[in-house]
Amino acid sequence: MLAVKDLRVRFTRYRGLLRRQDMTVLDGVDVDARPGELVAMIGQSGAGKSLFAHAVLGILPANASVEGRMSFAGEPLDLARQRRLRGRRIALVPQAVTWLDPTATAGRQVGWGARAAGRPHGPAAIAGELARFDLAAATARLFPHQLSGGMARRVLTAIATVSQAELLIADEPTTGLDPDACRVALTLLRRLADEGCMVVVITHDLSAVLPFADRVAILHGGRTVEIADARTFRDGQPIHPYSRALRSALPEHGFSAPAQTQASGVAGDGCRHRGECDRASGTCAIPPEWTERGRGQVRCHHA
Ligand code: SF4
Repeated sequence: MLAVKDLRVRFTRYRGLLRRQDMTVLDGVDVDARPGELVAMIGQSGAGKSLFAHAVLGILPANASVEGRMSFAGEPLDLARQRRLRGRRIALVPQAVTWLDPTATAGRQVGWGARAAGRPHGPAAIAGELARFDLAAATARLFPHQLSGGMARRVLTAIATVSQAELLIADEPTTGLDPDACRVALTLLRRLADEGCMVVVITHDLSAVLPFADRVAILHGGRTVEIADARTFRDGQPIHPYSRALRSALPEHGFSAPAQTQASGVAGDGCRHRGECDRASGTCAIPPEWTERGRGQVRCHHA
């Protein structure tokens, strides 16, 4: 199991020699994933979703500092362990297909991933990996510029999963895909979860991922505001006002987003949503804790 508790990521930069600037980008991310489960992590662009992935993989830049607790398979996930497990037991499907090496064929790049993980990397093994993602054996001979967007994403997924990683984080796996290719990409990730992998799909597209997800984690303002069963988003009512706004904005609910959909948060102490929230009270001047509610968790005093 992956367990992330109160993850905080801050970047430091210097203007001139002495002027130090600290910028907090993740400020309380709590999420977990279990084998056989697909967890959708939803957030607007700029919410820090990719940084979450990079923090779990241990690939943040050197000027980032990380606080909070992360564990994987029952043991702390520190930098040394991240380095050991990365590309073997934990893997990332990166957001941009430009992560593919333009000078090497798809098959060669899948082979690199297999060899790094100590797995078979001959032509038959590579063809087998590509076939898992419905790619013909001939794809192995194609260079990245010869792949369609959907094929390139499947090659990236094949590279990430060739190690048979137990945890896969897919960062915006549907960006730039048409609806059919988007469904194919998410079906493949769902299949990996059904085979026992922990899959975390990072996306801004709740509507696309919802049919494939077991649970949904909502990220807003650099922190998780709610985790709930996907069923709650499909048929029920999430608790947090931002989650409710996101659900209301789904096409099947008539795009009826209330005003707080666009809430960017209130600066200072207290709940960042109190300026827009129709349930806000005096208590909301105190920051709400991350608490269990039913089968989920939420950050709200009036849950
Ligand atoms: S803590 Fe208060 S302001 Fe924040 S979401 Fe809950 S009810 Fe609204």
